Amino acid sequence: MSTDTPGSQSSLHRANLERVLRAVRMAGSLTQAEIARGTGLSAATVSNIVRELKESGTVVVADTSAGGRRARSVSLSGDAGIVVGIDFGHTHLRVAVGNLAHRVLAEESAPMDVDVSAEQGFDRAEALVERLLAEAGFRPDKVIGVGLGVPGPIDVETGALGSTAILPGWTGIAPGRELADRLGLPVHVDNDANLGALGELVWGAGRGLGDLAYIKVASGVGAGLVVNGQIYRGPGGTAGEIGHITLDEAGPVCRCGNRGCLETFVGSRYLLNLLTPTLGTGLTLPGVVELAHQGDLGCRRVIADAGRQIGTGVATLCNLLNPRRVILGGDLAEAGELVLGPIRDSVARYAIPSAARQLSVVPGTLGGRAEVLGALALVMSEAGDSSALAVARS
Ligand SMILES: [Zn+2]
Repeated sequence: MSTDTPGSQSSLHRANLERVLRAVRMAGSLTQAEIARGTGLSAATVSNIVRELKESGTVVVADTSAGGRRARSVSLSGDAGIVVGIDFGHTHLRVAVGNLAHRVLAEESAPMDVDVSAEQGFDRAEALVERLLAEAGFRPDKVIGVGLGVPGPIDVETGALGSTAILPGWTGIAPGRELADRLGLPVHVDNDANLGALGELVWGAGRGLGDLAYIKVASGVGAGLVVNGQIYRGPGGTAGEIGHITLDEAGPVCRCGNRGCLETFVGSRYLLNLLTPTLGTGLTLPGVVELAHQGDLGCRRVIADAGRQIGTGVATLCNLLNPRRVILGGDLAEAGELVLGPIRDSVARYAIPSAARQLSVVPGTLGGRAEVLGALALVMSEAGDSSALAVARS
């Protein structure tokens, strides 16, 4: 075994190799020139590393043309390792199996009751992962990691779900550790908004961008922030809690303990309450969106007002972070222009003009799959890169 010390020739080589792998993993495929630009390595170093990775079966190299010139495009081999994504939502469980070449090999979603215990939730996730891996024809030892999405903030130090998480029976449980023990695989955990951002960044409406915000509006409201191509989480893991911006300090009491947070005006529970007097109980947010598309004036008004409130939050975000794109996800995004128009109006009204001018507000293109695909992308960005090499060589 090697006894590298930091700074030695071979640990430097290893570090360079991992930089190249990481760049290719997140992009899907890159030319050698793009790898050199993205990693800051010289063309000769990139060329040597790509040759080595090709010989080990970790990457495949194909001829392509970039800007009319011949180039060599590098992508990870489909055999370089399998990644698993699991998304626990308020009412669903979704699992996907993919490879490092960005292909989704199997995917399934199942309804889940809000009141299901963490134990039952893990049982179902474990069974679904085993079945999808078998369907895709891979043994668990080909899996380099599992990405896990949960609907609430994760404490960076303990890995436990915070008390403001949407799943009532899960507070204080460390889902990553629990699932790692059950599956015998490394598990990377993040909240649903961050994973939605990663999913749209790698596969959807944010491809090719380095700075964006993904805003998820469903039962709760949260944002995933991508800064310089990476998720910004903050030291405590709570960055992006846009749903708890105060809009009215005399407003309704929020689950966070404050009053008049953005979420208390646009979270599904609050929107449905507004419509109960005229439309009765038993409404769902997708149902309200459907009625709005059919022309129901009350539903349209409620969605437009929610858009204006969300836009106030987006304007603040825009002033602070100056993202190039805001991607709307979650159930409310299905309202399309009925909600996006009012969001843009508020941004134009409240954001600094120069920041607003550079911003586009668009719906996500992945719908309800954004989080589970983001869970796959999380493994691609977080897993130790040597794991892919080990799997490719095994
Ligand atoms: Zn709040």
